[in-house]
Amino acid sequence: MSKYYSEAVSREDMRELAYLIRKEFGYENVWWIPVEKLLDQMCDVFDDFSYEIVSDEEWDDPLSHADTDIFAGTIRIRESVYEKACNGIGRDRMTIVHEIAHYILICDIGLRLYSRSNGNVKCFNDPEWQAKCLAGEILVPYYKIIQYRRIPTAQRIKNLCGVSGDAAEYQLKCIKGGEASEYRNRK
Ligand SMILES: [Zn+2]
Repeated sequence: MSKYYSEAVSREDMRELAYLIRKEFGYENVWWIPVEKLLDQMCDVFDDFSYEIVSDEEWDDPLSHADTDIFAGTIRIRESVYEKACNGIGRDRMTIVHEIAHYILICDIGLRLYSRSNGNVKCFNDPEWQAKCLAGEILVPYYKIIQYRRIPTAQRIKNLCGVSGDAAEYQLKCIKGGEASEYRNRK
């Protein structure tokens, strides 16, 4: 989606939205979202949503693990990625939720996309940042973490939420307010 930019959405908006999504699908009180079940639930909730598991031999883009056709409302997932996600591998679970986030932001919420004429787009307007941000907030629930007097460690978040160590650390950094440097780096 790098050819586009979209309406700005802040991380605070994404946290609110992540909570509503968790609530809608019955996960507001749990840490771990079963991503493969969420895909099936989305098929029930959204008339135009579907997903497809594509065998690794048929997968045409060696650089990607999954993608979303925003016009058809279809997420395609490499079979090996889907299987690893079913086995609880954090990176692959995040890959799938990242695509779910693209679908929700564009196809459900209806954020408008504009074509991009030159390179400089702020992160809040970047569909990739937006999907990364929402996916992280869905899998690592801010509202549950801040209930603790002492914020859990990255290792604990990794195990509780089923995300990679890197993703757990990144979400912790955002929770502790360290995201300002991320914004600076992206300009
Ligand atoms: Zn993406």
